[in-house]
Amino acid sequence: MDKSQIISDDKNFIANTYARFNIVVKEGHGAKIIDSDGKEYIDCATGIGVNIFGINDEEWTHAVVEQLKKVQHVCNLYYSEPQTELAKLLCEKTGAKKVFFGNSGAEANECAIKVARKYSYDKYGEGRYEIITLKDSFHGRTMATLTATGQDAFHRYFGPFLEGFRYAEPDLHSIISQYSEKTCAIMVEVVQGESGVNELDGNMLKKLESFCKERDILLICDEVQCGNGRTGYLYAYEAYDLHPDIVTTAKGLGGGLPIGACMLFDKCEHTLSAGDHGTTFGGNPVACAGAVSIIGRIDNSLLLEVRGKGAYLKNHISLIKNVKRVSGMGLMIGIETNRPAREIAEKCLDKGLIVLTAHNKVRLLPPLNITKNEMNEALRILNEVISQ
Ligand SMILES: *Cc1c(COP(=O)(O)O)cnc(C)c1O
Repeated sequence: MDKSQIISDDKNFIANTYARFNIVVKEGHGAKIIDSDGKEYIDCATGIGVNIFGINDEEWTHAVVEQLKKVQHVCNLYYSEPQTELAKLLCEKTGAKKVFFGNSGAEANECAIKVARKYSYDKYGEGRYEIITLKDSFHGRTMATLTATGQDAFHRYFGPFLEGFRYAEPDLHSIISQYSEKTCAIMVEVVQGESGVNELDGNMLKKLESFCKERDILLICDEVQCGNGRTGYLYAYEAYDLHPDIVTTAKGLGGGLPIGACMLFDKCEHTLSAGDHGTTFGGNPVACAGAVSIIGRIDNSLLLEVRGKGAYLKNHISLIKNVKRVSGMGLMIGIETNRPAREIAEKCLDKGLIVLTAHNKVRLLPPLNITKNEMNEALRILNEVISQ
């Protein structure tokens, strides 16, 4: 099928929820994407941070295909090795005590919300159910996670939204002003992705952690986007030596297949019992086998490399004419310029570079194994487009 046919069928048959860019992705390798016309691109989007070792990564593909040949799905009534192996690996690497697997970031956050409320219910009884989230956060598209998302633009049309969420500016004073004896948890993204790659202040987060500990309020880190090596840390909270009670992740975890994880640390290790929560697809063995091959490779030398690449890109981007500010950590980068981000992203696409936008910023989430040459090519195109 040719490109215009695919696009017109898409417009006719796919629910109209996406402002898609004008490219039909056909295949790729590493940080290279090839479209339906055979045109090549450097991929600095990785399907929103999902293809974390690029496209068609050999190790990941091998792990996935080998598992696919054994069994494609095992429901959660039975044990299966890939799921257990992944949970053990995540616990060993983070200090988490238990993991619940779903299929997406939103599902990981749904689990976190339920665990926070049940932890509080078990210990303090009814009425202590409020969760404070931050302005400009993004936590997902289900009703609960949409409610948790601290952006007014998301709180239209679909009401009534869930009870029990309060929103604060990302500073301690504002968070404390939303706190009451009803508060059971505070949920933060250490680096806010969708709202423009805003890294929260480490000092503030440390103080927030003490505030939570003193009152037995659970600290939830939503690492759906900033986790899995993306920032140069396995999970971004490690950059500030935080000790969250719940950590959620998804996107890069599966390396391309849908998976979400809700990691439970000491306090809520025993909060969930049989029947409290569940899913048919969550923890799918093929997705888990792929994820094991991803998490198994994120070691200190890779993380150092990610920090180095991030610094290299940020330094060069900040020198480009018309760039006002470069934000982010590791290979999660936001670029503020004097022009609409969408316009820049479309011009980059024309020239063979795929980037994302996030609010008013251009956002880069390249694969962690992007090469120096590919980074230089991306920088060349960014410079051409932005400095114009
Ligand atoms: C993408 C994202 C989500 C939602 O994940 P889905 O897989 O789309 O449900 C939640 N939180 C953050 C921080 C995200 O970036």
